[in-house]
Amino acid sequence: AAMISVQGLSKSIRNGTGTAARTTDILRGIDFEIPAGQFVAIMGSSGSGKSTLLGLLAGLDTPSAGSVALHGTAISYLPEDKLAQVRGRTIGFVFQSYQLIPTLTALENVLLPHELNAKRKEAAEGLPRARQLLTSVGLADRMEHYPVQLSGGEQQRVALARAFILRPPIVLADEPTGNLDTANGAHVLELLLNLNRTEGTTLVLVTHDPVLAGYADRRITLRDGLILSDEMNLSPTTL
Ligand code: ADP
Ligand code: ADP
Repeated sequence: AAMISVQGLSKSIRNGTGTAARTTDILRGIDFEIPAGQFVAIMGSSGSGKSTLLGLLAGLDTPSAGSVALHGTAISYLPEDKLAQVRGRTIGFVFQSYQLIPTLTALENVLLPHELNAKRKEAAEGLPRARQLLTSVGLADRMEHYPVQLSGGEQQRVALARAFILRPPIVLADEPTGNLDTANGAHVLELLLNLNRTEGTTLVLVTHDPVLAGYADRRITLRDGLILSDEMNLSPTTL
């Protein structure tokens, strides 16, 4: 079965009121399936609907029509408490803007999803796993630092470790290297790919950088809310 299944996915937004009201169709009926472990790049120019699609995959937004299923569970019309539960266990996120909590250390930031969502019997695994992940992204000597004491690249590496702490089957990344210079961006991508492989994670990366997309197994390109192309990458760039 597919890890991510998207059927007839549409999103329209109403702007304005009364006679000035207008409907904008942001996504116009999208279909695809992503098998477990695949690394997919979602591409397309600005405004093509990439962020909207990612928000729907994450269950952060509700479709106007169609559905999203993750790991066999249809998430699109679940009540919020149930959805939060599925989301917390199934998805790790990496954002362009890191989104670390400034009052928590690197280690505490990585542990946070574990403290919010781990099962009781997993309680003891959190700390060693957080330390191991921070070490694997090269931050063994930065665990007690606060975000403000870290560079942009280091903050994004903390965010990667945080996304993987609960061993989610799916990681969603929205322009994760967009705020980094080329060298730091390449390093973060390399670490993300290593985690995708060692953990067997299904990885969906939104990017408009063709260089980054070159590493993916598959490239789905959007245009004006529709799929323009969906192709396997026969010769992905290797590390
Ligand atoms: P990015 O392409 O960097 O992910 P966003 O998804 O935030 O950027 O926004 C993409 C485009 O959508 C921008 O042109 C932005 O102005 C527009 N946009 C985002 N949210 C809204 C909104 N609530 N109302 C109108 N336009 C929006
Ligand atoms: P991308 O991530 O590819 O840049 P988005 O998904 O952010 O595209 O946006 C797709 C289109 O939908 C854009 O034209 C944007 O302006 C519009 N849009 C996004 N969010 C809103 C919103 N809340 N209200 C109105 N328009 C929006």
